Amino acid sequence: AVPLVVAKSTALSAKHGLLIKNRSAFENSRKITTVVFDKTGTLTIGKFEVSAIISLNKALKENDLLTITAALEQNSEHPIATGILQKVKELKLAVPSIVNFKAITGQGVQGTVNGKMILVVSPGYLKVNKIALPDGFNANDTETVVFVMINNQLSGYISLSDRIRPESAAAIKALKQENIKAILLTGDNSKVAASVSKTLNMDSFIAEVLPGQKLEKIKELQQKGEFVAMTGDGVNDAPALAQADIGIAVGSGSDIAAETAGIVLVNSNPNDVVSLISFGKATYKKMV
Ligand code: ADP
Ligand code: MG
Repeated sequence: AVPLVVAKSTALSAKHGLLIKNRSAFENSRKITTVVFDKTGTLTIGKFEVSAIISLNKALKENDLLTITAALEQNSEHPIATGILQKVKELKLAVPSIVNFKAITGQGVQGTVNGKMILVVSPGYLKVNKIALPDGFNANDTETVVFVMINNQLSGYISLSDRIRPESAAAIKALKQENIKAILLTGDNSKVAASVSKTLNMDSFIAEVLPGQKLEKIKELQQKGEFVAMTGDGVNDAPALAQADIGIAVGSGSDIAAETAGIVLVNSNPNDVVSLISFGKATYKKMV
């Protein structure tokens, strides 16, 4: 039987935007010492807008760089893809067809357009593959950049910006007041991660991690004795959500994240992580 105090808390949690899928996740929430947050879609809104399209090749027009990129992104569900396709729509451009599409998880996408091999990839991908950044390249700290390679030639890049959710700052502040650490974990580049982490006054950030590495980072924190909650929205967050002591999915995110997590933030509001912890404490203090 469900104790009365727990039954009451279920109704209360619903009111505060929490879907408790796993009772023990709720029960254990009072033990959390660290909350790890995914960036895109979790602390940020997850809607990218194209802010610059830079061609590095005189023969390649910016609009063509955009549409070649869009051809690949049509096959992707990443928020970056949505932002790029939105720009194409605004400019009313036609998108060429593509074959041999392949996602490079956590790093980008590839495919063949007009017989040319195209890669749309992260700065991390360039680093790993020892491809030099363009001369004088200096991205704005708050922008996510994807590089476009055509037949293995770095041919241009597209900058995109997302916005921090208005609720995120208060959520981090409240956690810190409870002496709970807040850590940012993202596949995005270090500059953006540093900027978001600093803006929100978080304890630290871990950037340019591949989806499989997110899980490893959670394990490392656990080995240091932290009781870790992971909050994320993406398909790429699911293994980390499963590894964490408490997995918290953002409601607006992927189905896989919601299926994996013990708790879902129905309103996608990071402040509800704080509500979860205070409800957990209030509920279980009366028991035991
Ligand atoms: P996050 O941890 O912020 O959710 P991801 O792991 O999904 O990030 O992606 C990490 C990086 O990989 C992105 O910032 C981007 O540079 C690159 N990337 C991922 N998917 C795509 C895509 N569809 N198109 C272009 N770049 C992508
Ligand atoms: Mg995300």
